[in-house]
Amino acid sequence: MEYQEIAKPSGPYKNVDPNLVDYAASRADFDWWRDAFAKMDWLPGGGLNNAYEAVDRHVDHGHGDKLAMIWVGKNGEEERYTYSDFKERSDRFGAVMKGLGIERGDRVFIFMDRLPELYFAAMGILKAGGVIAPLFSAFGPEPVKDRIEDAEGRFVITSPELKAKISGIFKDLPSVEKIIIVNKNGRSTEPLDDGDLDYDELMANASSDDFTIENTSQYDFSIMHYTSGSTGKPKGVLHRHQAVVQQWLTGHWALDLKFDDIYFCTADPGWVTGTSYGMMAPWTNGVTQIIYEGGFGANAWYDVIDKYKVTVWYTAPTAIRLLMRAGSKPVEEHSLETLRFIGSVGEPLNPEAVVWGNEHYKMPIHDNWWQTETGAIMCANYASMPVRPGSMGRPFPGITMAVIDDNYEPVALGEAGALAVRPGWPSMMYAYWKKDEMYNSRFKKGWYITGDQASLDEDGFFWFQGRADDVINTAGHLVGPFEVESALIEHPAVAEAGVIGKPDPIAMEVVKAFVTLTPDHEPTPQLQRELIRFSRDKLSAGVAPREIDFIDVMPKTRSGKIMRRLLKARELGLPEGDTSTLEDD
Ligand code: ATP
Ligand code: MG
Repeated sequence: MEYQEIAKPSGPYKNVDPNLVDYAASRADFDWWRDAFAKMDWLPGGGLNNAYEAVDRHVDHGHGDKLAMIWVGKNGEEERYTYSDFKERSDRFGAVMKGLGIERGDRVFIFMDRLPELYFAAMGILKAGGVIAPLFSAFGPEPVKDRIEDAEGRFVITSPELKAKISGIFKDLPSVEKIIIVNKNGRSTEPLDDGDLDYDELMANASSDDFTIENTSQYDFSIMHYTSGSTGKPKGVLHRHQAVVQQWLTGHWALDLKFDDIYFCTADPGWVTGTSYGMMAPWTNGVTQIIYEGGFGANAWYDVIDKYKVTVWYTAPTAIRLLMRAGSKPVEEHSLETLRFIGSVGEPLNPEAVVWGNEHYKMPIHDNWWQTETGAIMCANYASMPVRPGSMGRPFPGITMAVIDDNYEPVALGEAGALAVRPGWPSMMYAYWKKDEMYNSRFKKGWYITGDQASLDEDGFFWFQGRADDVINTAGHLVGPFEVESALIEHPAVAEAGVIGKPDPIAMEVVKAFVTLTPDHEPTPQLQRELIRFSRDKLSAGVAPREIDFIDVMPKTRSGKIMRRLLKARELGLPEGDTSTLEDD
């Protein structure tokens, strides 16, 4: 089936206030994607489905025997699945969901550890026309309840231990009809709760043979993701099947994925990176993906890379800083010789980390920028270009980005301003769930306002400054926390730094830093003074922190982002706000 039409007559973002959007300009960018859309495999009925693109198309193209997934369990288990296995299991789960009466657009929550069944279920739900809503398995009952309630989830897929953790919430969740329990390899011996359904039994009784994939259109909803909660209460971001085209192409060009790659993405599907780049991008590109159930560990991760001959590795700055903290020894004890590309996303990647990567992995780490709302990579350091340490790279082809002022006009090169994107890219969010006003507020005069501050250099590279909310105004200077944090972590005693503006009667705000220390360093007043001196030498006196506090644990979201709003609230004795995504100590 040939692809026929791209945009709905009403334009690709129908719930945006039309007065705010310059349709003509954004349409031009959207048309750039036409060739990529034409390369997707459209369903016989003319539709587009993420799961078909990620799984079935490889089987149809004769690659059914290729490995799609190698699962490495937390107890050392290993399971291997080809694209044919993946198709069979996801079809079967699609049949299960249809048997349960799923309708197009129903939200299905997946509250699970990284097990193969998570991925079979996700693809099956998409094939059956449902919307996947993945949650971090580390969440406690409240964050799970809030999100299911907000999104009116109809089905929940979980495991026995996780169900036990949250069993109290379901009496207050009338929208939930069925709970499906995955008891991986009989890990639990407890009987099921009344009314719950057993995954293995459902799968055994379903048949993949008489399953037909829903003819979802490119405009049907596919994924509902809650944002990381770095700046406030997480928002439910709704995406559509058409996002797949951008996830596929950015996987290929920004992460350099090729058909023969062995790919390792360390992000959990509870965070958008774990779906866009932990499911869609790798599998649409037909690679073999390592799914590692365990958490962070320098040796454990390097073991995975060596054992499975990982070639492309996608991770986050927080992990890279932890790997730096673990030092050279674990690197020297491993070969890591198959690695050929490393990517990073989620927070600014400190220049120090890029340099460290060059030294220790013998290759640069490629930073790229995007958000839950953008659905896919928007700006990247590419394999084909030298990396500029500290820069988030250049916009992806077909994406127009700018740094604009308060009147929504581009600022001069090198100046800081609001980072904005021309609306209409394929993986653009369709909605903030039930928050239309907030959604509309992000579109101004033909731009989508990202909420980040950045600058642009003469070669077209973008440089992240900070979140708009985090930028500090000290004695008339605007200071981005990233610059100060990056300077501090160059000191050997500093593992991580979080910088805030502290209200001050004279300077308006003063720069205050919180740091965690690397092993073998003690929090002494002398070190405090030394760090202030050190940052003054690196930065100007006006920008360097006036105060530095040592903390044991940097507050971070489960996706690994420093929660500066929490550092600030704690410093000022203010309420902490939504802490549903705060990582446990
Ligand atoms: P919330 O919107 O709930 O406050 P969040 O913005 O952290 O949370 P995400 O969508 O996961 O939720 O993160 C996107 C944000 O992460 C970006 O807006 C940006 O601030 C930051 N970010 C992502 N990649 C980079 C990068 N390469 N450099 C700098 N910042 C980045
Ligand atoms: Mg955000």
